Amino acid sequence: MSGAAGVERLKSYLQDTWLAGTGVGSPLLDPTSGATVATASSAGLDLKAALSFGRDVGAASLSQLSFKQRGDLLAGLSKAIHAQRDALIEIERVNGGCTRGDAKFDIDGASGTLMYYAELGRSLGDTKVLIDGEPLTLGRSARLQGQHIRVPRPGVAVLINAFNFPCWGLAEKAACALLAGMPVLCKPATATAAATVAMVRAFTEANLLPPGALQLLVGSVGDLLDHLDWSDVVAFTGSADTAATIRRHPRVAALGLPFNVEADSLNAAVLLPGAESATYDAFLRDVHLEMTQKAGQKCTAVRRILVPRDQVDEVIADLGGLLGRTKVGDPADEAHRMGPLATPAQFQAAQAGIAALRTEADVAWGDPEGGAMLNAATGGGCFVTPLLLKARAPHNAKKIHEIEVFGPVATVIAYDDVPEAVALVRRGEGSLVTSIYGDDRDALSDAVLGLAAWHGRLVVVDAKVADKSVPPGTVMPHLLHGGPGRAGGGEELGTLRGLNLYTQRCAIQGNGPLLPKLLAE
Ligand code: NAP
Repeated sequence: MSGAAGVERLKSYLQDTWLAGTGVGSPLLDPTSGATVATASSAGLDLKAALSFGRDVGAASLSQLSFKQRGDLLAGLSKAIHAQRDALIEIERVNGGCTRGDAKFDIDGASGTLMYYAELGRSLGDTKVLIDGEPLTLGRSARLQGQHIRVPRPGVAVLINAFNFPCWGLAEKAACALLAGMPVLCKPATATAAATVAMVRAFTEANLLPPGALQLLVGSVGDLLDHLDWSDVVAFTGSADTAATIRRHPRVAALGLPFNVEADSLNAAVLLPGAESATYDAFLRDVHLEMTQKAGQKCTAVRRILVPRDQVDEVIADLGGLLGRTKVGDPADEAHRMGPLATPAQFQAAQAGIAALRTEADVAWGDPEGGAMLNAATGGGCFVTPLLLKARAPHNAKKIHEIEVFGPVATVIAYDDVPEAVALVRRGEGSLVTSIYGDDRDALSDAVLGLAAWHGRLVVVDAKVADKSVPPGTVMPHLLHGGPGRAGGGEELGTLRGLNLYTQRCAIQGNGPLLPKLLAE
């Protein structure tokens, strides 16, 4: 992909055919230069027919496959991504502003998650039914028994994704849906869809997909949701506002469709009192990474940093030192560790968010206008440089607990004791992940038990795991991804739990010895 004249019109892949939408379409930009690099449109595409095709053709072709065969399919998709790794990295630089490291994070996350579910599928063997728990005796006689099973829902899994993970976002949802046996129709965010299109093209060119198993809609959602039926499910990642709009959609609401939401969140990092130096270093390393990786455009990035009051100055100085060494600029230059935000809209939203946070917090390190020179140099960039704020009165504050600046920005919050830290983190009203750093077992226990119900995941780091811990912003397929309240209330991944959305649980009761024979294929 280049920014040259005669920009490419991205195509959708519907009914096993590559199709271009009509009309002017939306521009996809290079956020380093502001140049238009492609356009996308869903106008004129028959989305009713696409959903019918998925239900009729896709569901039928996947139902022929055992878990092992679906696992083999996912392994093939994973390898197809890996084979195109360098091309995808370049596309994410041009349409997304990703550094090489940031693009690899997305692309390797996609292939790694697919391969994880490939192995899981293979381990389930030649069966097509998931047995859910042990047989249950229902009466006095052992003859009458019940067994829960899970089978694929008979419709289409509509997967709507955010702009920040054009490959991983699709792959993590599709891995679970396809392994469950549900065909998918994916809709990436328009602004960064070029990498998603290239990834799906790699799948089709490798001739891996069973008929109707995977469709791709590029451009706006159009009338897609109007054609949902009871058998479909929707899995969404994006802002809480868009989630609320979809939740209110007449078809989604009236049919009571399974609807999984991964939304935004005010994730925290909590440094507990008395942390050993290895733990403290891990805290600094993680917060620095989470603020700067993908220029802070991660749903799991750290937005609030809770620090014992007597360590606030030390933390700001140490974090500032790390942030100061993070070179920001054109991602084409490998010396740069952080690129621009992905779109002008994200840039505007970040600027507005920083202004709002500054009504409740002071600048502790960095320059809120730091991107201006870089943007002037590139002639249209979306750069925001790292910024640490310090809350003035965190208990009275509202915005620092509510506004997710989707950029390299976080707020340091001082606290006096662990219950106070817990109370302040809870003000986020439900988050994807919070990381807790400390070596005092009582304090760790109070923090974990005090925060678990507010989170989908807690990362606990003491000196014993300080050099082994996976950063909190890295979503692993082994563990649940999602969070309550503000974070959307959804659940993804987490080994076979990730298949729950895409399968119907059915309780079968009857003649105990007969039941397994009925379920054997
Ligand atoms: P967004 O504006 O909400 O868009 C997300 C997706 O929804 C896009 O594909 C968008 O399509 C689509 N969409 C927009 N309006 C729609 C409608 N009325 N009906 C159906 N779909 C619609 O979010 P974003 O700006 O791409 O992503 C940033 C947000 O996502 C951040 O708040 C971040 O925290 C969150 N996020 C959460 C997670 C998580 O796992 N929890 C992960 C990543 C990001 P168009 O692009 O065509 O408008």
